[in-house]
This record gives sequence, structure tokens and C-alpha cells, in this order.
Amino acid sequence: RLRGDRPTGHPFTADSLTRIIAVTSGKGGVGKSTLTANLAVALAGRGLRVGLIDADVFGFSIPGLLGIADAKPTQVGGLIMPPRAHGVAVISIGMFVDARTAVSWRGPMLHRTVQQFLTDVHFGDLDVLLLDMPPGTGDVAISAGQLLPHAEVLVVTTPQQAAADVAERSGLVARQTGQTVIGVVENMAGLAQPDGSVLELFGSGGGAETAARLEVPLLAQIPLSIALREGGDAGEPIVLRPGDAAGDAITRLAGELA
Ligand code: ADP
Repeated sequence: RLRGDRPTGHPFTADSLTRIIAVTSGKGGVGKSTLTANLAVALAGRGLRVGLIDADVFGFSIPGLLGIADAKPTQVGGLIMPPRAHGVAVISIGMFVDARTAVSWRGPMLHRTVQQFLTDVHFGDLDVLLLDMPPGTGDVAISAGQLLPHAEVLVVTTPQQAAADVAERSGLVARQTGQTVIGVVENMAGLAQPDGSVLELFGSGGGAETAARLEVPLLAQIPLSIALREGGDAGEPIVLRPGDAAGDAITRLAGELA
């Protein structure tokens, strides 16, 4: 369709066939980006056409997690061609700024960036578009809510009960913009020890607590995993190597969402 036909200026309108899933969290460091990158690769592994927008503008990490830290998009006829990694078409602010440049933009600039990622990037026909949102309830969350009011939202949190407040709030902001919170993912859940005991580094119950408060299902519990973390550091998503409890939990989640 012509751009003029699109009321919102981008192709991912409510009547498009692309499912949009925004991954959000109350605070940073809960594994939101790691989960999003792995989820995207797992969905692509099921044969879906997957796009991933790294909307975590200040803390972009998706290119590194997918092993394309140095990839640059090409431009064709005014459109931006997104680099691909493990079957996923990826766009990130990290592809446009120097790695050591701090991004310190105000709201309008952030809004334009999200809008441009939706409008000017040639994703082609997608089955699923994932967005790695910045943590919290700031400008990007509000812009994404305005631009994609029909998006579904996954809230990521840890087992820590004290994190449930901020996690709940990130879901509530999404809901205020009309988006639908489809569930909670608890990351960094208990790690099974060789002796059969479970190391609960971050306590337990935070995922269930957040899900109960938002009245949505707890869709997955992803254990602490050294292999998951190492895969992220190496740019080789763990879901590509079955057998790790965390990776397998994300693969199951992809199966439920597909
Ligand atoms: P966020 O996007 O929420 O800020 P990241 O995805 O960047 O979080 O993850 C923060 C850190 O925690 C990273 O170093 C990542 O490798 C690590 N991490 C994430 N999930 C797990 C997990 N289940 N087990 C072990 N380390 C994890």
C-alpha cells in the first residue's frame, strides 16, 4: 500500500496481519533484552517471518545479543534494509550511532525514532514484530502506545517480590495506551543444583505476584542459566542449542505464542 493510505504513517496498523508483541519490564537488568532476542530467534526457528525493533534506545543491546554488533543497515530507494541475524530482521539505534556515543534524547526525538523504525524500515511481510522496549514507563513506552495501540505486551520480571510493583506499573502504562498485556515472564528463576536443590538467588513468587496483580497468566519461568548469559555475550542465542533449561523454557514460550 501507499504510504498515504496509512493513517498512522506505518504499515503495522491494527488491520495488518502482523502480530506485534512489545516486551517490557519495570526496571533494567531483568533479562528483557536477552529474552526478546532469544524469543525472536525461536519464533523464526518455527518458520515465522520475524522482525525485531530494538526500542531500548538508551540501553540498546539487541545487535550484540544476536551477534551482529557491527552490522549496518543499507539504504535502498529511501528505505532502510534491516540486517538479518538467525532468521530475524533487526533494527536498532545501535546501528546508527557510534558504539561509545551516549544517546541522551528528549521525547520528540525518541518518538521520531520509533516512528521511523516503523515507517522507513523495509521489514517486508512479517508474521510477528517484536519490540524490545526500554525498561520503565518513559517516553518510548508512551510513543509505542500511541503508534501501536493494538500491540500485545509481555511483562518481564524476576522472582523478587520487591520488583513486582515496578513490573506491574510497566504493564499498567501499556494498558492505559490501549495495549493488551498478554502475560508475565519470570526470568532468573531458581537454578537447579547438581545435588537436586534449587538455588533461588532472587527469591521466588515475583512472577506469580505480578501476573496476579495484572490479572494475566504467568506464561513462563526461565531459570538462571550460565549458558544463556554466555550465549548472549557471544551473540549466539541459547535457543539455537537445545538442552539448556532456560533456552528450552524460551523455546516453549515461543511455541505458545506462535
Ligand atoms: P535487561 O534487558 O532487562 O536490561 P539483559 O537482557 O541485558 O536485561 O540482561 C541483564 C544481564 O543478565 C545480562 O548480562 C544477561 O546475560 C543476564 N541474564 C539475563 N537472563 C539471565 C538468566 N536467566 N540467567 C543468567 N543470566 C541472565
